[in-house]
Amino acid sequence: MARPAPVLAAAGDAPLTTLAGVGPAVAEKLAARGLLSLQDLWLHLPRQYEDRTRITPIAMLQPGAAAQVEGVVEAVERGFRYRPMLRVALDDGSRGTLVLRFFHFRSQQVNQFRVGARVRAYGTPRPGQHGLEIVHPSYRVLGAGEDGGLGDALDPVYPAVEGIGPATLRRLVGQALDRLPGEEALELLPRGLLAGTPTLPSLREALLTLHRPPRDADVAALLAGTHPAQRRLALEEMLAHQLSLRRQRIALQSHVAPVLDDDAGLLARLRRALPFALTGAQERVFEEIRADLRKGVPMLRLVQGDVGSGKTVVAAMAALMAIGGGRQAALMAPTELLAEQHLANLRGWLEPLGLRVAWLAGKVSGRARSAVMADAASGAAQLVVGTHALMQEGVVFRDLALAIVDEQHRFGVHQRLALRDKGAAEGIAPHQLVMTATPIPRTLAMAAYADLDVSAIDELPPGRTPVQTVVLGAGRRPDLIERIRAACAEGRQAYWVCTIIDESDEVVAQAAQTTWEQLTAALPGLRVGLVHGRMKAADKQATMLAFKAGELDLLVATTVIEVGVDVPNASLMIIENAERLGLSQLHQLRGRVGRGSQASSCVLLYQPPLSQMARERLDTMRSTGDGFVIAEKDLELRGPGELLGTRQTGLVGFRIADLARDADLLPGVQQIAEALVREAPDAADRVVDRWIGGAARYAGA
Ligand code: ADP
Ligand code: MG
Repeated sequence: MARPAPVLAAAGDAPLTTLAGVGPAVAEKLAARGLLSLQDLWLHLPRQYEDRTRITPIAMLQPGAAAQVEGVVEAVERGFRYRPMLRVALDDGSRGTLVLRFFHFRSQQVNQFRVGARVRAYGTPRPGQHGLEIVHPSYRVLGAGEDGGLGDALDPVYPAVEGIGPATLRRLVGQALDRLPGEEALELLPRGLLAGTPTLPSLREALLTLHRPPRDADVAALLAGTHPAQRRLALEEMLAHQLSLRRQRIALQSHVAPVLDDDAGLLARLRRALPFALTGAQERVFEEIRADLRKGVPMLRLVQGDVGSGKTVVAAMAALMAIGGGRQAALMAPTELLAEQHLANLRGWLEPLGLRVAWLAGKVSGRARSAVMADAASGAAQLVVGTHALMQEGVVFRDLALAIVDEQHRFGVHQRLALRDKGAAEGIAPHQLVMTATPIPRTLAMAAYADLDVSAIDELPPGRTPVQTVVLGAGRRPDLIERIRAACAEGRQAYWVCTIIDESDEVVAQAAQTTWEQLTAALPGLRVGLVHGRMKAADKQATMLAFKAGELDLLVATTVIEVGVDVPNASLMIIENAERLGLSQLHQLRGRVGRGSQASSCVLLYQPPLSQMARERLDTMRSTGDGFVIAEKDLELRGPGELLGTRQTGLVGFRIADLARDADLLPGVQQIAEALVREAPDAADRVVDRWIGGAARYAGA
């Protein structure tokens, strides 16, 4: 396989100071935007295009459709009525009227627009007082007899770089493109490898098309990101991620992990004490974990299981593998409520076995905190359960062999690694078990978690009946009061979930408070509780426990109850403003009911009118309870960023690829990744460097 000539291949690494007009000051501004090398500019793709390859007669202009016009200044008006304003009427003989309107301008500009001057202008016309107008067009006054000429490529509009004007930026990218190496030198993917994928242009061709699309280019496809040129780049970017995740995995597997086995026989004792038998799926997944833990290589396994599938007990059994081998385990959950519930479950299971389960959250302070830290450091606590607080500096374990993270998608990769590092020493890494109730569509799991093995608990414990879901307009609220009264009269319990647009805890808490007051007044015979994010954790927990113990009939709550809360006797849930929640959040919430043996129902209340998206979401909720189906739909409707919760964490962090849109490329990406690693490992490294660079270096750490 031909390898790129090193000199040319390195061309993209040349610093931007090698461009004309880039001194240290400009270079610094570019660097602030992450633009360091020629290659960075090649990949700084336009966000828009302007078509100056043609001139549109004024009479043909369409409101909202950007266009270039050329005409003669017919009148100029300068006004000051409310604020400074300049209006320039253009005439091109096409019997249309067009006004260029400026709110910010210099007097020099006013002088340019003399009646009779010829002007080229580009912008988006909108209906104005007297026909169409373009506010703040880009324009050029043509000299006498000057032919403005027409380009044969569309003009790129680049994402802004602070401190550098658009024209300068355009010029710099142009210069960088002029230094694009030839096809062979630029291409890192041997042609043979691309054979299985849809016909895509070479990288060089793709870049040139994207920066300088020909005048007949399919602009709609370019703006939608579906043009073959974009797919070519997306393919390579996805490939880079795949390769980087593999690299990460190989790096991890070069570490040693403790060989764990339940030498103390704790597992058998737990099983005897459990009030239920494990489902087949739980058994299978636990066996997968057990096999990993016995290997001496760090496990990195994701356990997916729908809400209520019983992940906690599997986690407990994994912890016993570590503890039974004389070592420690830690379990981290994203919210205090969820972590506390894990704590209660795990204490209930492990303390009878004579084990110590310690608790560490942000609010654990002072002497209690020192005690937990001491117990973790000495090994007196075999299991430590907690929130993010577990990852803080100063939390030290004697011998952490297994790090368990619940609801992985709420944490970024960084956080997952931070907990792992608590058990890391030279060449040694602990095992990691990651649990999520958000089923991740296969495509995403492949792309985002190529570094994890995946197990699925794809069976619910027996005796659960599916939740019946109905969708109702908010006008039906009064009927629901009756329904709650009836359910509670039969000894059942209900949730009323309040959501409002305002995300601030305070406002949501207030709305929940108001709803609580209304429902308390409307349902005099019932015991109504309230939990929201502004309450003290102790009060929240006390209320949750009271609900769990059946001392409350109805619980008014905000979405703080979303994850993990387990009250089997609750069989009715009402979710207000359900149209505002995403699918996975609705699915999580609904998972709070249907956990016992009686038939449960979920009422999704919405405020009409429903947007198309909201309608699709609610229809999906009504028609299926299958978390995997819901996840696929969520992916389709929202894209992967939100699904994985990575918009914030940058876990996926693609610049060009969009996993939902480009999912069909993934199988090809996998194949190419394998072949490239096998046949051209150097090229594989260069692909990662090209697309991920420093980020990959951190990830491999
Ligand atoms: P999730 O997977 O959503 O975290 P949990 O671990 O909270 O689910 O389990 C939900 C409920 O089901 C808990 O009350 C748990 O004790 C119970 N459970 C778990 N496994 C089984 C089983 N095999 N049979 C019956 N109940 C089970
Ligand atoms: Mg759980």
